[in-house]
Amino acid sequence: MEETSAPGTMVKILSSLPSKAPDRSIKHVFRTSDRATFEAVQLWEGEHGAYSMCMSAQAGCRQGCTHCATTFARTPFVRNLNAEEITAAVEHLQERVRAQQGPLVWVDFAGVGEASANWAHVTTAARTIVGRGLAQQVKVTSIAPRAWVRSLLKPNSWLPDRLMFSLHGANTAQRRVIIPRADDPSTVLPLWAAVADLRPVVLNYVLCDHNTRPEDEAALAELLAPYAGRFLILRLSSFNPVQGSPLHPSSREEQFIAALSRDLSGWTVSHHLSAGRETTAACGQLRAETLDLPTPTKRPGL
Ligand code: SF4
Repeated sequence: MEETSAPGTMVKILSSLPSKAPDRSIKHVFRTSDRATFEAVQLWEGEHGAYSMCMSAQAGCRQGCTHCATTFARTPFVRNLNAEEITAAVEHLQERVRAQQGPLVWVDFAGVGEASANWAHVTTAARTIVGRGLAQQVKVTSIAPRAWVRSLLKPNSWLPDRLMFSLHGANTAQRRVIIPRADDPSTVLPLWAAVADLRPVVLNYVLCDHNTRPEDEAALAELLAPYAGRFLILRLSSFNPVQGSPLHPSSREEQFIAALSRDLSGWTVSHHLSAGRETTAACGQLRAETLDLPTPTKRPGL
C-alpha cells in the first residue's frame, strides 16, 4: 500500500489507483490522523487538458443511497471532515499536478459524503481553496434537501460556481428507492429552480430498472416540463453497479433517453456513460476495496 504525505499535513494518501489508459484519472484513499478514511479522485478533464478533483465532504455518509458503495461498506459513516482536512487533501493533490498545469480546474464535492450535511466546513474549505489559488472553481453535488436549499437562497449565502442535484425519480416513492430520505420532487423543484437562476445547476437522474419504465418517461417529462430553460442540463447517468446494491442497470436505457430527448422541449438532455464500471470510480467504491470491506449480509431494503 502506498502511504505518502507532505511534512506537517494532517491527511495521508493511503492508496492510489491509476485508471486504465486512455483515462489519466487517479483515485486516492486518504487517511486522517484519527484513521478515518475518505476518497479523492484526480479526474482528467480531456477538454481542458487538465486535472480537476472529486473531493469527499465526509468520512462515509449517513444518507444510505442504494446505488452507492459507501452505503454497503462496514463503516458507512465515521464523521464529518473538517475544513483543514479538506483543504490539506486538495493541497496534496494540487501539489502533484502544479508543475504540469497550475491550479486544478475545479474541485467538485461529489465524492463520499453529502456536502450539505457538512456545509460549514465545506464552505470554509471552498473559500480557502479558491482564495489560495489551489483550484479555479468549486462545484457541489448534492441530494439537495429542502432546508439546505432554502439556506442557499438566503441573501449573502455563499454559492459554489456550479451545482448538480440528484433527482433519480419523478415522485417521492420512486426517489426514495435510491435516496431513502429524499424530499418530494414536486416541492423541491421550485427551490432548485430558484438556485438555478443564480448558478448553473445540472439535474442528475441515474438510470435503473425501477425508474426507466415506459410510464416513468411520461411522469418525468410532465414533472420537468414547467422548468424548461431553467436548468443547465438533465443528465441521465448509466448506473455503475456496486457490490451489495439491490439496484439493476436499466434494460431500456436507449428508449428512455430517446423518449426524454424527444418529449422535453426546452431542455438539454445528455447521457453520461459510467466510466466507473471499469475503474471502481463510483462514490465510496475505492474506499471499500482498499479497506477490503465485505458486503454486509443484511442490506438496506428497497
Ligand atoms: S450517493 Fe452521496 S449522498 Fe448518497 S450515500 Fe453515497 S455519498 Fe452519500
